[in-house]
Amino acid sequence: MVEMDTIAAIATPLGTGGIGVVRISGPKALTTADRIVRLANGKRVSSLEGYTCAYGIAADREGPIDEVIVTVFRAPRSYTGEDVVELSAHGGVYLMDRLLNACCENGARPALAGEFTKRAFLNGKLDLTQAEAVIDLISARGGQAARAALSARGGALYRCVEKIADRLTHFAAHLSAWIDYPEEEIEAVDSRTLHDALLESLRTLDSLAGSYETGRLVRDGIETVIVGRPNVGKSSLMNLMTGMKRSIVSDIPGTTRDLVSDTVLCGGFVFHLTDTAGIRRPDDPIEREGVALALEQVERAQLVLAVFDGSEPLTEDDRRVMKACRGLNALALINKADLAQVLNAEAFTSDFKRVLCISARGEDIPKPLTKALTEMVGLGAFDSSAAIVANTRQRAAVTEAAGELREAVEALESGVSYDAVAVCIERALDALLKLTGKRASQAVVDSVFSRFCVGK
Ligand code: GDP
Repeated sequence: MVEMDTIAAIATPLGTGGIGVVRISGPKALTTADRIVRLANGKRVSSLEGYTCAYGIAADREGPIDEVIVTVFRAPRSYTGEDVVELSAHGGVYLMDRLLNACCENGARPALAGEFTKRAFLNGKLDLTQAEAVIDLISARGGQAARAALSARGGALYRCVEKIADRLTHFAAHLSAWIDYPEEEIEAVDSRTLHDALLESLRTLDSLAGSYETGRLVRDGIETVIVGRPNVGKSSLMNLMTGMKRSIVSDIPGTTRDLVSDTVLCGGFVFHLTDTAGIRRPDDPIEREGVALALEQVERAQLVLAVFDGSEPLTEDDRRVMKACRGLNALALINKADLAQVLNAEAFTSDFKRVLCISARGEDIPKPLTKALTEMVGLGAFDSSAAIVANTRQRAAVTEAAGELREAVEALESGVSYDAVAVCIERALDALLKLTGKRASQAVVDSVFSRFCVGK
């Protein structure tokens, strides 16, 4: 364990809440708590076993601060791997501040952003990918993102990378022994076995690198635009999806002139929805601007939901919408399925990736719509337990390792000496160990933890 000083921070959001927690970690965590808290059972905090808690009163020089529940974690069985004490008091800004100050007057110093998790990393409790998953877990906005982050926190990516790294280490060691000690009786490297193993590792790395885009969609959400001529039911669809009246629903065409945006969860994924002005030949300048803005949004969106009124024949404005969607990732929604239908789905198949009949007047998002939305953005078969690359740092390392392995495979295939192959394997290994943090520079480690909040 790396010997450190003792740090303290407010671990809960600053505001009014039922409970607020000040966390202390380091060699003096228990003695700091001893000085602040008088336990009701008359014992000292430092006499408590790990994984136990006790009730007491916290006080500073000015007198009692609040009632607290003290939870003790003893090294190495704690989040940071050090002695950790958590003081749970009532969650008030003044109380939390005063409790933290009391800690800092009694042996601790204020923790920097991410310092608790950084200590966990330095003490070998988690690797860099697991540390990064902690941030993703905290900032997850949907169930799928949270599950994926939890699985990364549990080591899904780490284990996948370690498996490849172990394999490469084995081959690197064998190759270097064989090259460096030709007079020794070291078993010859079997070129076929090496080739197949490198190729398999390369395939895994390529697919990991490819998972970045999926991970990004899951984490950041999908920019989705609702478009259509006036009165087809765009606002009704927006309201159905958000579950509330965000857009004005009216029979008067052109009611939505500005963009109305909201974030919704659909199938556990986050969709950032924007309802646009009805696409039509505009009469006044404000409306013209609204229509221009809508078309701009359509071009930029990751997913377009184009709404049509199934109970009416296609109009000139509908055709403008269809033209604007051509070649985009667009879903045609033939709305008002509860009325007699005059539109035929076939009319849309050439301009749209998919066509669906719905009624935006329902209570819940129809299941086929959820399915279509997730499939349209490639998340239909998303497996939140699989290893995925979660950020650009990870992607760069995986891509670098893959590039080196590609060179190693090519070198083997072209019959170049094993020296060149060994160098590529070493470089690939280096990139993977940077990814997990085993060989990461201080600057990389610092930049990972700088993304954290104080108290985590
Ligand atoms: P927008 O101008 O495209 O945003 O359309 P609105 O959402 O304001 O809807 C226009 C009209 O169509 C309103 O009277 C809605 O109540 C009605 N409407 C929307 N969806 C449906 C539907 O699925 N079925 C029926 N019957 N009417 C609908």
